[in-house]
Amino acid sequence: MAKQVIHTEIEGRKLKISNLQKVLYPAVSVTKAEIIQYYLSIAPIMLKYIKDRPLTLIRFPDGIDKGSFYTKSKPDWTPSWIKSIGIAHSEETIQYLLAHENATLVWLANLAALEIHPMQMFSAEMEKPDHFIFDLDPPPNGDFQVVKQIAFELKDFLENKGYAPFVKTSGSKGLHIFVPIIPEHTHEDMVAQVKTLAKIFVKQHPTTCTLAMSKEKRGGKTLIDIFRNHKAHTTVAPYSMRGKSGAPLSFPITWEKLKDIHNSKDITIRNYQQYLDEFGDVWETFYDDASALIPSSTTDEIDPKIAEKLDDYIKKRDFDITPEPSLAPVKTRGSQFCVQLHNAQNLHYDLRLEKDGVLLSWAIPKGLPTKTGLKRLAIRTEDHPMKYLDFEGVIPKGQYGAGEMWVYARGSFVWDSQKDGSYKFTCKADGLNRSYKIYRTKDAQWIIELIKNNDFEKISLPIDPMLAGVSKKLPTSSKYTYEIKWDGIRSIIHVDGKYVSVYSRSGRNISTQFPELLNSDLFEVEQGIFDGEIVCLDEQGRPMFSQVISRMHTKGESSINLATKKNPAVCYLFDCIMLDGKYITKEPLLRRQAWMKVAFKSANIFRRSETMDDGQALYDAAKAMSLEGVMAKDKNGLYTIGQRSDYWLKVKFRINEQCYIAGYTKGEGDRSGLFGSMHLLKPEDDGTLKYMGKVGTGFDAKKMKMLMKRFEDLVIDKKSFKEKTDDDKDSVWLKPELLCEIQFASLSSTGTYREPVFLKLIDKQ
Ligand code: MN
Repeated sequence: MAKQVIHTEIEGRKLKISNLQKVLYPAVSVTKAEIIQYYLSIAPIMLKYIKDRPLTLIRFPDGIDKGSFYTKSKPDWTPSWIKSIGIAHSEETIQYLLAHENATLVWLANLAALEIHPMQMFSAEMEKPDHFIFDLDPPPNGDFQVVKQIAFELKDFLENKGYAPFVKTSGSKGLHIFVPIIPEHTHEDMVAQVKTLAKIFVKQHPTTCTLAMSKEKRGGKTLIDIFRNHKAHTTVAPYSMRGKSGAPLSFPITWEKLKDIHNSKDITIRNYQQYLDEFGDVWETFYDDASALIPSSTTDEIDPKIAEKLDDYIKKRDFDITPEPSLAPVKTRGSQFCVQLHNAQNLHYDLRLEKDGVLLSWAIPKGLPTKTGLKRLAIRTEDHPMKYLDFEGVIPKGQYGAGEMWVYARGSFVWDSQKDGSYKFTCKADGLNRSYKIYRTKDAQWIIELIKNNDFEKISLPIDPMLAGVSKKLPTSSKYTYEIKWDGIRSIIHVDGKYVSVYSRSGRNISTQFPELLNSDLFEVEQGIFDGEIVCLDEQGRPMFSQVISRMHTKGESSINLATKKNPAVCYLFDCIMLDGKYITKEPLLRRQAWMKVAFKSANIFRRSETMDDGQALYDAAKAMSLEGVMAKDKNGLYTIGQRSDYWLKVKFRINEQCYIAGYTKGEGDRSGLFGSMHLLKPEDDGTLKYMGKVGTGFDAKKMKMLMKRFEDLVIDKKSFKEKTDDDKDSVWLKPELLCEIQFASLSSTGTYREPVFLKLIDKQ
């Protein structure tokens, strides 16, 4: 059979994909198309762990039942945009593939390279591994519960030694424990240290664990396989598929979640999405949590040199009042940094870099530069103690630096150069993988410049806003915070220096239509992406949907200016997606809301959508005000760009009203002989009747027959109201005497019902 080939393009890379329908996992009918889809969707997360690492592949071109082979050397037909690195082995030099972009994973999936096995170092730092691995390999027919037990014991053991172990299913029989370390030692030093650790652990667990590789010598015990830590050895990657029956994945899980796992093949290509939706990438802090390979021991004494450097820090603070840390000794893990968002007299950022036992500190009024070459002023402040790296809290009024302090970014960094008054360094933190230069110009004045931005996760505008799930009832739980559901135009507001742009939910730039929103002076930050709702309000502060829609459709400068005066818009902001160059979608909602609150001046035009913990009180108040509904939002929920998520639940009110039936359209199909929908007239306070549109749902055949019977005596030749309907020709008109009750969601721009449902006839007594 001829190969079926399709040509596609992913982020500008042209790819030839073949045999999409080929089944590679026969027992569960997983096709190559499904595998490509999986790798494409997981790529942004998976790349964090395999990017720039030399790769070994296991390919299964004819499916997992028909054999496999290892591929180390880059195939001849590899596209030129896929990078590689030569590694000299004793016999030959092998060109290993490197993955840097989503398209590479699709290309690999197309080769049926189901399994991707990276090395433990980056191609740029070949001699310095950045993690070590314990592969727990149970005996044949071993009990998975026992492997789990060993994993938990190993976790405690490693944590007591100062390490931060991460766990994933192997997708086969056992579990993989990965331990990030600061890349400053050779492979040999690392292997030696891992051996020492493993020997101590096995000595403590002689009945369940062994280091013996040979199957005979294992004696029914679990092998703690540490030999893969040698240079150029590989282990299956986090999120890689396995060539095993059932299409399992080697999937990162939380230690808590491990308790619920029954088999290392539990997570598969068919069910992983639910884990991912629930937990996200649980290895997120992998690089930030890197420890020194041989952790330095805790000292109980404060080094007098350090105490001297912190003299200024101590003098400025009253530790009976401020919650800031004093000089407790801290175990350090190498070069650590943090950036704090400090809502003091002026909102600013504080950069702190570890050096010689203290944190060199700078206040950066406008935030770290976000574009290469951009220079920002940094004010050198007093050295801070190491404990300040994780400090968050409120510094009380009257104290030095009074105001809220948050950790905005936290991780490790490497010095690229250190001279007195001039430093270069590269940060490694989620969303802040960047190289900077900072140098003194005069006294305490320094300049910070962005040299290089290594963040691969760049989100380009327009952004699709997160969508809410629906709940019929108000969920009441302390995990939710509640706010009004504003009925207007969902908008993404982008602030960049002097410029403000407004995008609609569909990504259309609607800035021109809302000139009053385009004022960057209303923001405290240099850059931001906010989520909100543009509304026009009536005198009671209720959104007028038709007015704001009409604003959006107004064209021409003079018409827009006129409409702006007549129906000024207000934008309720309720979320923040990016703040000064860092995407914060993975921060919990409460933190995003807190940062959003200080990022703009809540005034007439931009307003904070107020939140409440008492959902019922808000619900009752909003219903009494005839608003559209309320939102319940998970306080810890992430911001899921473009995706519907139950982190947010909308609860809409529906309103009941009574109307006269003024006619009907003839039924078609299974409603032939009956009616299609009924025209409704609403009695107004002044005694007139107002046309409200039609209702076409809420009845079964029995109800319809009953209604048809009631209609018989009421038929008239001419309709009883003036308004034109879309069905004037095809309608049968009735004397408006039959009163019925309907329910609707809201009113349309022309004042007719949105989503009306028939409830019952009201027979006057
Ligand atoms: Mn500060």
